[in-house]
Amino acid sequence: MWYDFFMNKATVLNCRVDLCDEKQALNCAYDAIRENQSFHIITINPEMIMNSQKNSDFSNIINNSNLNIPDGVGVKIALKLRKIAQQQIRGVDFARNLIELASKNNYRLALLGAKEEIIQKTKENILKKYPNINLVYVQNGYFDDENKVIEDIKNSKAQILLAGLGSPKQEELIYKLKNDNFACVMVGVGGCFDVFSGVTKEAPKIYQNLGLEWLYRTLSEPKRLKRIFPTLPIFLIKCIIECGTKKDF
Ligand code: UDP
Repeated sequence: MWYDFFMNKATVLNCRVDLCDEKQALNCAYDAIRENQSFHIITINPEMIMNSQKNSDFSNIINNSNLNIPDGVGVKIALKLRKIAQQQIRGVDFARNLIELASKNNYRLALLGAKEEIIQKTKENILKKYPNINLVYVQNGYFDDENKVIEDIKNSKAQILLAGLGSPKQEELIYKLKNDNFACVMVGVGGCFDVFSGVTKEAPKIYQNLGLEWLYRTLSEPKRLKRIFPTLPIFLIKCIIECGTKKDF
């Protein structure tokens, strides 16, 4: 595909980040669907990169995905340290755009993740907005039999899968589908369904524009604090050290 040749890439702490804007990322998804590709997109953030440092299997998944789009202001800052200007692509916005893409093109859409009432409310909201959308699979993220879920997703012949199981669970499941060569654009969407259901409020635009979405989420959900500290400061320190030692980025 064209992006393999033209898209710039960077590595942040040995994780590949593809330098693209949201429109290019959506075009990649669109092309992959039309070409019946098995296509894994990761909305990569500092937490995932830090996790990959101690989990080589996860690092392998990240570096073998098809597209790693930078979510999280931390990745944007890490790239800025290298003088690479990169737009932050918000996972929630990207997922919204994929739903719209599915609706416009009548692509088969699958939703996996979150608690039962949340995924059902998400389904309801999506159907309210796109009454004719081709929703072929909806499953909460609290299941016992992963093999069955994988088989059901394959049987649904979904062309777009949004998997919101949290990381690394969502990426691991998608990796299995990709190894089976399941022709689908598959994206790990974290807590998106909590937002789409209306249960979790999105950060106001002012926070988003200032790159302070993490602060808003932490203030509204203080238990997230332990996910940010010490991970985020350590991430930034490691990036600064890497920046001083590695030139061929
Ligand atoms: N989740 C799930 N199954 C699990 C664990 C988590 O479906 O076994 C869901 C959880 O309900 C939430 C999402 O995964 O909707 C994780 O959200 P989180 O806030 O961790 O993701 P982030 O947006 O920070 O990537």
